[in-house]
Amino acid sequence: MLPPRQQPRPGSLQTSLSLVSSEHRLSPDAQEPRSNSDNVHESPTESASSQETWPTADAVTAKKMENGKIENDCPEQSVIRRVSSADKITLRDIARERVDVISEKMHRLPDEFLDELKNQLKAILEGNGGSQNREEFLILQKLVQSRSDLTAKTLIRAHRAQLEILVAINTGIQAFLHPNISLSQTSLIEVFVYKRCRNIACQNQLPADDCTCELCANRNGFCNLCMCVICNKFDFEVNTCRWIGCDLCSHWTHTDCAIRDGQICMGPSVKSGSGPTEMLFRCRACNRTSELFGWVKDVFQHCAPAWDREALMRELDFVSRIFRGSDDPRGKKLFWKCEDLLEKMRGGQAESTACRSILIFFQGTM
Ligand SMILES: [Zn+2]
Ligand SMILES: [Zn+2]
Ligand SMILES: [Zn+2]
Ligand SMILES: [Zn+2]
Repeated sequence: MLPPRQQPRPGSLQTSLSLVSSEHRLSPDAQEPRSNSDNVHESPTESASSQETWPTADAVTAKKMENGKIENDCPEQSVIRRVSSADKITLRDIARERVDVISEKMHRLPDEFLDELKNQLKAILEGNGGSQNREEFLILQKLVQSRSDLTAKTLIRAHRAQLEILVAINTGIQAFLHPNISLSQTSLIEVFVYKRCRNIACQNQLPADDCTCELCANRNGFCNLCMCVICNKFDFEVNTCRWIGCDLCSHWTHTDCAIRDGQICMGPSVKSGSGPTEMLFRCRACNRTSELFGWVKDVFQHCAPAWDREALMRELDFVSRIFRGSDDPRGKKLFWKCEDLLEKMRGGQAESTACRSILIFFQGTM
């Protein structure tokens, strides 16, 4: 079995976590209610959030004051830089008008005006304005995604801010508007045309690892190194049973997504191909199966000693949900063991005791 995402992915985990939470909040499909009946079993970690990555209001105010001061000192310049209403552009203009036309206008507009446009989009992506923001975002995204003229060739002529805005609209990820995230113009274009992973902490060339599977070949923007085969989302959880790796093609799937979509079920043992059945994971990318018991055992043996109480309970819950429908004695025993330990921990059992108990259980299994 693959290493259970034991190593953090390339890039700083701190940054990653911030970006992850952004993606989870911003991605339009992340906000869609799941239409499955298994919602109650979903992991509560799905909505884990972290610190906002945007500059503080103080910094923005300081910048404005600085600009104000400059303008006061040079009255002529402030006249020159005043934006006539004919020159003004909106986010919708950027989403629908020709790259060179907008680019030319943007080059004439002051930085403050462009920053304001980015802030408008940031507010829309944050969605604090509720359904109105969401509607506006969907309008912008539809405009951008229905165009055929936005290609690597035409985007070379885009203004930097224009490109950032187009990428943010296309991906739904506001991090591309962040002043501290300085991807090269080329990288931004590649993200836009799905040649590079939109996950800023990953940024691999696509298809990742030159994979030729149907999914990597046909799903725009899918990255097999960091995204879930089923829901297309990424996060940076490591040392966990939250992600299942396919033994054969190495693509990843959220355990929750696999359970929800019925990709975890009983089947003939992977090793023997016949005989006793066991709980298996069927990979959506390659349609082949991987065994689960050995994988769970491996994750626990490597990672459990480092988990805190909350993590241990969460992981036991994952395992319990994976093995709930087991028919075989070993899978059933694991399910019962997890349920028993969860019950005891809710009753106050120390995590160290519970951890020792599950590791002893695994030691006694093959
Ligand atoms: Zn693939
Ligand atoms: Zn990626
Ligand atoms: Zn998923
Ligand atoms: Zn696979």
